[in-house]
Amino acid sequence: MNISYFNGYYLPHGEICISPDDRGFLFAEGVYEVARWYGKQFLGIESHTERLKRSLREMKIDWPEADNYPSLAHELIIRNRMAGKQALVYLQVTRGSAARTHSFPSPPVNPTVYAFAKEKKTGNRDNETGIGILMTEDIRWSRCDIKSISLLANTMGFQEALDKNMQECLFVRDGVMTECSHSNIFFVRDNIIYTHPESKYILSGVTRKIIIKTAREIGMIVKEEPVRADDLHKFREVFIGSTSFEITPVTGIDGVQIGNGVPGPVTRLIMSGFEAVLIPLKG
Ligand code: PLP
Repeated sequence: MNISYFNGYYLPHGEICISPDDRGFLFAEGVYEVARWYGKQFLGIESHTERLKRSLREMKIDWPEADNYPSLAHELIIRNRMAGKQALVYLQVTRGSAARTHSFPSPPVNPTVYAFAKEKKTGNRDNETGIGILMTEDIRWSRCDIKSISLLANTMGFQEALDKNMQECLFVRDGVMTECSHSNIFFVRDNIIYTHPESKYILSGVTRKIIIKTAREIGMIVKEEPVRADDLHKFREVFIGSTSFEITPVTGIDGVQIGNGVPGPVTRLIMSGFEAVLIPLKG
């Protein structure tokens, strides 16, 4: 039986009931985080917690227990007997439940806090072949730096990619390739890695930070600079990074082959650097 967390309690998943007046349900007014458990430890749980607190602050949602996210996530792993396995822990905090009106509840109500753990199967064939991704216009709002649960443009773009037999969608805003529906993106040219700078147009990915640090530690140059879609042909390698994708090579964009159509040497180097980071976290 799956045990999930809901407003202070660990409950069988099916027993959780959420109010129809929840502002997450009515207005998509909430934030979320996803952290990955590698058998013994989470990767970057402090960064996830810091980003959660920032998202809550930016959305003016008050959840005083945000610092307990790591222990809550760990408790879900234990209660679901996932120690020794790989898993993702999803946590969502909404502004809470109140009669529907655009103004925030006054006096404030308790936020709704929900979290669950799900096993993450390992072994990814995409790492050998690379994936194809679809370029699409970035129709999202201008606060993509907040990890908001309002993900309509992301799910629409991602589904369009799947429907066209591609595995992720790449957003383009004003001619610049920003990020993907649920990953950050990296472009390689002349042994230099380029990725969009932190801004309100991308989510500052925990994996992105680890990739940049790992790459610099092994002597690579990383430039946090926007890359224009028109310049894509100048790049020999592309890869994406996120908690769920880890590092995944991209070998085609909109059906056009990248480099030789196989994961390139810089991508492989970064992937092995990332694997080394994971070793102590694995059970
Ligand atoms: N960008 C977007 C839009 C995302 O939704 C995600 C993760 O879900 C990422 C980037 C990567 O973030 P992280 O590495 O923290 O998982």
